[in-house]
Amino acid sequence: MSIIIDSEQCTACESCIVACPYGGIEIIEGSAVITPDCNLCGACVDACPVEAITLERTEYIDKVDKSQFKGVWVIAEHYGGEIHKVAYQLLGKGRQLADILKTDLTIVILGTNFDQILSSFGDYGADRVIYVESKILKHYYSDIYVNLLSDLVSERKPEIILIGATPTGRDFAPRLAKRLNAGLTADCTGLEIEEETRNLRQTRPTFGGNLMATIRTPISRPQMATVRPGIFKASNETKKKIKIIKIEKDLNETDSVTKVLKVIKKQKTTVNLEDAEIIVSGGRGVGSKEGFKIIKDLADALGAELGGSRVTTELNWVEPDRQVGQTGKTVSPKLYIACGISGAIQHLVGMQNSEIIVAINRDKDAPIFGIAHYCLVGDLHEIVPILTKEVRKIKSED
Ligand SMILES: Cc1cc2nc3c(=O)[nH]c(=O)nc-3n(C[C@H](O)[C@H](O)[C@H](O)COP(=O)(O)OP(=O)(O)OC[C@H]3O[C@@H](n4cnc5c(N)ncnc54)[C@H](O)[C@@H]3O)c2cc1C
Repeated sequence: MSIIIDSEQCTACESCIVACPYGGIEIIEGSAVITPDCNLCGACVDACPVEAITLERTEYIDKVDKSQFKGVWVIAEHYGGEIHKVAYQLLGKGRQLADILKTDLTIVILGTNFDQILSSFGDYGADRVIYVESKILKHYYSDIYVNLLSDLVSERKPEIILIGATPTGRDFAPRLAKRLNAGLTADCTGLEIEEETRNLRQTRPTFGGNLMATIRTPISRPQMATVRPGIFKASNETKKKIKIIKIEKDLNETDSVTKVLKVIKKQKTTVNLEDAEIIVSGGRGVGSKEGFKIIKDLADALGAELGGSRVTTELNWVEPDRQVGQTGKTVSPKLYIACGISGAIQHLVGMQNSEIIVAINRDKDAPIFGIAHYCLVGDLHEIVPILTKEVRKIKSED
């Protein structure tokens, strides 16, 4: 797509500049001109009173025969011989989407030494596994992934492709989308099917998390989305007998422009918010670094992980690894206790999938109460120690 401006028609009235949320258009020498910040949203087209701006679509998109595309795919990634947990979570969501579309769910693995576990993906709802095997695929190679996946997709034509929004997924997903001329929505927090059109409604935070945007890619296929770990839940409710398609490839390092010299494991942090069953988080309302002691005491009493809002990590009240939210961790524990956290959308997107949410806030109108299952209105400095005492008492009675 591209924006075309008829400079003879343009009156330099600046309506387009007012309408553009991105600073993607400016007036130069009496005519509107597109800047590199334009994201082709088309707001300027609608705003122009003299129809001097048009949005041109390329021929290719109109030619896609959507009826040829069937099935939901999850691309699994792996590290150190283990499939990343986000793949199982995407299978959980993928199964729901595939059921609505009355189609198959496929997991795609590019790797080596996975033969033993292939049939287990049926326990997580997959109908089929496509396993591309090659020794070199023990490690991740960006260009090899894109080449192999674009060949597979062009040949088998899935309707939807789900990828983890991990460093690896974020690397190959946009390259693959570009190669396939497909739409890609990054960091989705919600995925739904529009049944009549079979379009995937992909919801994600935008404008710094202040708005949730629902995006569709109605004229191209496949529809691609990346999703951060922890957004969806793995499910082993629908067990399927799995069909295995193994494709052996004779690849070596000369097939890539890169060469993996050494894999350096990230220093293991002791913080494991994503897998925690209980998280007790504090916000600005805690008041100080010292004030976090009562939050930590409650976390310890419950055997929980400690979390914090961004404010608290910026103020160095808690370590950066413990930040929950859009620019922190996405968590989905069984129990999330938010103490003195207002419930800004950027925090909510990181914890709203928690099974039970308890919020403690002295402001009865705090937005966090909008999603909390249990709302405690009052001073956290009074409430939290009482909770800790009760938890300790109950535990000592067990
Ligand atoms: C691009 C972007 C990304 C962001 N990413 C994140 C993110 O990942 N995670 C995140 O958390 N934020 C993020 N933010 C920041 C977010 O917008 C909020 O500013 C932040 O979440 C607010 O933190 P808070 O709730 O701790 O503080 P506040 O909003 O100041 O809320 C403090 C709350 O504590 C209550 N309170 C005060 N004293 C007490 C008391 N004694 N007892 C009980 N309640 C009390 C108040 O009533 C208030 O509701 C992001 C912002 C942007 C723009």
